[in-house]
Amino acid sequence: MAIDQSFYLNLTESGIAGEVPDADTCVQLLQSPEIELLPLLDAAFQVRRHFHGHEVAVHILNNAQNGHCPEDCHYCAQASTSKADIESYGLKSDDEVIEEARVAYESGAYRYCMVFAGRGPSKQRLERLARQVRKIKQNYPLQICVSPGLMDDEGTSILKDAGVDRLNHNLNTSERHYPKICTTHTYADRVRTLEAAKRSGLKMCSGIIVGMGEADEDVVDVARTLRSLEASSIPVNFLVPIPGNQLEQPARLSPTYCLRVLCMYRFVNPQAELRAAAGREGHLRSMEVMALYPANSLFLDGYLNTRGGSRERVLQMIKDAGFEIKSSFSVDEMLDQEAQHASFQVDPGDGQGSILKTLDELRPTNQAPDIATADQSPETAPSDRK
Ligand code: SF4
Repeated sequence: MAIDQSFYLNLTESGIAGEVPDADTCVQLLQSPEIELLPLLDAAFQVRRHFHGHEVAVHILNNAQNGHCPEDCHYCAQASTSKADIESYGLKSDDEVIEEARVAYESGAYRYCMVFAGRGPSKQRLERLARQVRKIKQNYPLQICVSPGLMDDEGTSILKDAGVDRLNHNLNTSERHYPKICTTHTYADRVRTLEAAKRSGLKMCSGIIVGMGEADEDVVDVARTLRSLEASSIPVNFLVPIPGNQLEQPARLSPTYCLRVLCMYRFVNPQAELRAAAGREGHLRSMEVMALYPANSLFLDGYLNTRGGSRERVLQMIKDAGFEIKSSFSVDEMLDQEAQHASFQVDPGDGQGSILKTLDELRPTNQAPDIATADQSPETAPSDRK
């Protein structure tokens, strides 16, 4: 393959035209030293700018129920097989979830993502979730994404009717590699959930975790499968090494490799909201800001159980690179707000403190753990967690 200016120009033009690069080219984008990073980033940025301008969609996660999951996803601190020292709790109350939505909205979030541990929700839990979503939608102009686990058509229809905009269910890795990261459900189960979401008219959010011992071909397979499934939102996560997890040591990921992955995902999924998701701080390190050239979205306030960069640092990074946040508020207004409320500072996960969130960070609007009460509710009975 001849690598000259026309190679990069062709990537941009094909991306804007919606043409998918072939699998071999995608692997080369990850591997070939002849494909230089800066022109590759620029080619990906041209595609990103064409479809998304300079906007960054900021997402804030609500870990609506933490731990107690019977599944054995090897990367997950909530898995039954994980020994990670996380703060487990049952389902948050309606008031707590709605109050956290308010805080997320006022923090500049474009989208509020509610995540539930477990194989999949009972009908009772789905109806409770639908009630919460209706209340949030009545009060705040937030896009709502929920991540409830495995679903069928009936469940996804309940969520759609309640006003959920997107359903998140990550593929995480390729079909070939899937048995090495989970044995309690299959890749096909995950694809079925995504297809049910699509049939119900929900937009689809689905992504990958890079660094779980997969081959480059697996990373490419997921990108191309997500294109064929028409995923409108794609979180690209880089494995966060949580002590006690089955997969606690990530494969060695360099910052340049992570950026190549993001560029390749942009070329394969040019119109998707591409998110530099969990692990970006630790794996991209000093090159973190460059993720915004292929990606147009990121998380604020860390992840399900692990901390990210401080809110102020992330907002300043967006501003310094010349991007705007996609929000009712400008990035300057957000930074001013941070200056006034400088109390919410989190450890950047740089080794100087625990990477795990405290209970206060997981439940910022409810200081009481309330585990006993929550665990007695029918919605969080062990049978519901399958
Ligand atoms: S099903 Fe979800 S919560 Fe449970 S172990 Fe897998 S990723 Fe974690």
